[in-house]
Amino acid sequence: MREANAQRNTIDQALYQQDLYRRALEYACEYIADLEDRPPYPTPEALVNLEQFDQALPTSPTAASVLLAQLHNVGSPATTALNGGRYFGFVNGGVLPAALAARLLADVWDQNAGLAVMSPIAAKLEAVCETWLAELFGLPEGTALGLVSGTSAATLCGLLAGRNAILRRQGWDVNRQGLFGAPPLRVVMSSGAHATVPKALAILGIGSDQMELAPADDKGRFDPLALPPLDKRTILILQAGNVNSGAFDPFLPLCRAANTAGAWIHIDGAFGLWARACESKSHLTAGVELADSWSVDAHKTLNAPYDCGIVLCRDRGALVSALQASGSYIPPGPRRDGMLTTPDMSRRARGIELWAALKSLGADGIDQLVAQLCARARQFSSELEARGFRILNDVVFNQVLVACESPALTARTLARIQAGGECWCGGTEWLGEPAIRISVCSWATTEAHVARAAAAFDKAREQARFASA
Ligand SMILES: *Cc1c(COP(=O)(O)O)cnc(C)c1O
Repeated sequence: MREANAQRNTIDQALYQQDLYRRALEYACEYIADLEDRPPYPTPEALVNLEQFDQALPTSPTAASVLLAQLHNVGSPATTALNGGRYFGFVNGGVLPAALAARLLADVWDQNAGLAVMSPIAAKLEAVCETWLAELFGLPEGTALGLVSGTSAATLCGLLAGRNAILRRQGWDVNRQGLFGAPPLRVVMSSGAHATVPKALAILGIGSDQMELAPADDKGRFDPLALPPLDKRTILILQAGNVNSGAFDPFLPLCRAANTAGAWIHIDGAFGLWARACESKSHLTAGVELADSWSVDAHKTLNAPYDCGIVLCRDRGALVSALQASGSYIPPGPRRDGMLTTPDMSRRARGIELWAALKSLGADGIDQLVAQLCARARQFSSELEARGFRILNDVVFNQVLVACESPALTARTLARIQAGGECWCGGTEWLGEPAIRISVCSWATTEAHVARAAAAFDKAREQARFASA
């Protein structure tokens, strides 16, 4: 009797879950059906409605169907429509359907990718991604991969491996002796480095006084003539894809000099390292194979779901020893445990969606995706130029910097664009003036979307001119 009841409860549980997940998927499908017409940024009304979430922590349970409905009705209008084709903010990638579907399935599996024994499938696919990405990026065979939340964390890991390796060469073991009293090391980078680089350095105990900043050129690139003499105590930090202009550092001369000096080279390639996988763009990355560590996002150019960052390190031992962990309950062995190359232990099985993104596109599809994003950016710049906007950067990749006749008009035009609901872009400052910043980073952006966005720029500038008159 009791056994029969238990069995019925199990069946009820399964039915309940199936019903709930179907409902979530139905909401998701409704969201997608509307996506083309959805404003790229929430309307003021949708933002006000978010106040409905300002409730006291409930003391009693809420039915999942009730909270899902609230998410659908109040939450989805307050999303930025990253996959609607008209969102160009920051460098925010869209999501490939195959990768997202794989993630949905993997989320139901609820795998922990910390140890191979915790999830054989997660460990297998992560190992496959490690081999595939080294090949795709033309990096040395055996390059180690760690899957982290984003490039911020990946850069932290790469610089950590570099810091410890450099100190080890000087006879200093950070894991045993710590950092206090360690011999000095140098960090050389350009003033165009991404804000996450000094952040990572600060976490690693390297302050701004210790950063030797070479001035970036007017494209946002590291100027090789500004490279100070390097030595084997130096970490050189380079960039594939300036976050404003999309420019790439000239890797060959810089990496050769660093290799000769015995310096550690880290390349922040958050969105730009993918140029390596695109025949028409790979020349931008010539020489990146000479580096020691690389950080790159799968959730930007590749359009994998958030959050999926990747650290790659030529010397597996350097990465693993920097992120060492052991415990009596952790079985020793030759397996490739995910936690050995990341700061985390428990974590989501990001390798599953990464594998799905790579497998669904194949090398040819990745080549085409990158080329498509770059082509849309060029279309954007030529349409805007034809309408009398100024393009402030060389559009070498997926980033476009735009300005009007005067800084004030640029700022007012951007405000109108953001409020207009036709497309969404952020702002920045470039070479001392405000600029509208376009990043084409979603597979979903078509030529028609770019044409519609360019028309919205025009209209916003007209309104801005009129408002000031
Ligand atoms: C986006 C970006 C980062 C930070 O990456 P996250 O994934 O947001 O942590 C670092 N560097 C560059 C050049 C970027 O574009």
